[in-house]
Amino acid sequence: MKAGLHGRKSRYVKAGLHGRKSRVVDEGVDALSIETQLDRGHKWATVEGYDVAAEYTENVSAWTGKARPQIDRAMDDLIAGRIDVLWCYALDRFTRRGARMILEIMDQPASVRPWIIFDHEQMNTRNDAYRLPLIMLAEMALQYSDRLSKNVRSTFHRMRESGDWTGRAPYGTRVRAGTRKLEPDPDTWPHIMEAYTAVGAGVSLRAVAVMFNERGVPSPRGTEWASRTLWAMIHHPAYEGLQVAYDGGKPYAYRDAHGHTVRAFADDAEALPADLVRAARTALSGRSFDMQGKRGTASAELTGTMHCQGCGGPMARTGKAYRCSRHIRGVHCPNPATVQAHHVEPMVREAFLAYVTALDPADPDDLDTWAEIATRWKLHTDPTIVADNREATRAVTDLEKRLRRLRDDREAGLYDDDPADYARRVRDLQDALKDARDNAGDTGVVNLPDFAGMEYEELSTGLMRVSTAERRALLSSAIAGVIVNRAPRGTQRFDPDRVRIVLVSGEDIRR
Ligand SMILES: [Zn+2]
Repeated sequence: MKAGLHGRKSRYVKAGLHGRKSRVVDEGVDALSIETQLDRGHKWATVEGYDVAAEYTENVSAWTGKARPQIDRAMDDLIAGRIDVLWCYALDRFTRRGARMILEIMDQPASVRPWIIFDHEQMNTRNDAYRLPLIMLAEMALQYSDRLSKNVRSTFHRMRESGDWTGRAPYGTRVRAGTRKLEPDPDTWPHIMEAYTAVGAGVSLRAVAVMFNERGVPSPRGTEWASRTLWAMIHHPAYEGLQVAYDGGKPYAYRDAHGHTVRAFADDAEALPADLVRAARTALSGRSFDMQGKRGTASAELTGTMHCQGCGGPMARTGKAYRCSRHIRGVHCPNPATVQAHHVEPMVREAFLAYVTALDPADPDDLDTWAEIATRWKLHTDPTIVADNREATRAVTDLEKRLRRLRDDREAGLYDDDPADYARRVRDLQDALKDARDNAGDTGVVNLPDFAGMEYEELSTGLMRVSTAERRALLSSAIAGVIVNRAPRGTQRFDPDRVRIVLVSGEDIRR
């Protein structure tokens, strides 16, 4: 027994306090903060001389219509006797079940009825006189909540129509302070630009993901970059500056009542250029297989390296084995091969390690092989180089063509009256060609990859520590292909002789 503040004797009562957070919206909800609500509850408990044994706070607003498990927990505690009385800030914060919940409580005999205090209404469940007012107020609160929910939804609709951004700003953008318009986020927008540019230049999503991961570029969710993240990014209308709506969680460009798209970027904020967006999406539309529904296949260690001896086609990893892709797709293969991943993958790793560690970075005889490995490795580690290279190579071809045309023209007698002009033109083109060739990396210098000259142990450990994608890139830098023969009918045991490993030097490893 203990005395209350006002000297009243009161038995030991464990009280629970319930409050619900609400948000201030345009319609002007009475949105007393949860702290203020609970403060009031604590004051009440002090005055009554009760101990506060639990606080139940709902984080979800009334109008979202979501389940509020805290009130259920409070009711459970009340019924189980963990608390004797539940204090609630207000009836309209208490339940979304309206009169039904109050009826369930008030219909019980007074002696066992859950004891709930509604502070704002100055009513409680112990007094039968409050039965009808509580039922009515609960039902009114429910209707108000429903109406509010509708108001909020139409507010969202109006905002969307006007191009105001209502959700979280997509990666690479931010909501401009004091407005509801998007603008590029200077920290992350460059990654968006880079991804679109690379993909538009023909770099695969996977290669971009590998590049971003290796550079430690922060990803939207703080996890590793993956093809599907980039795929979604390339298709997100917000980067064109457009307002979005969602269909099954997938964003699409929102259109207003007149069928027009709505700008979500601030007027002076620069979204991605339309041709950049188009180039990236067009590049992807040609190879959507890169990301959709084939995660297991695309991420396998030897994807792209394995070939079926029966048809010469690729093998895909499905489940625990690599199988002839054509056969899987129902295309005819005279001898579809299958091999368990746990048999073939260690073999290929072993071949890679033995081969690469036997090459000497200082031996001129090995230089050609290193050049080949370095190029293949580069393709995986820095796809921008590939894109740049493609550009540079195109420039070389272009200049060679022009030089040929110039010579043809002279053959045809076009420069007979001005040989000096011809000489000047040839010289210009040859200079340009030399620059272009330098630019394309035709310099004859081999930049060795990081793993050149590593000891077996070191490279072996490294190989197993990197991600599957990186391991695939490493292996395929030195292994040109792995060709698998079909197992003879009826054989159970794996025969390593079915596997042929071809190195980039053209050598062929057979056990
Ligand atoms: Zn096949």
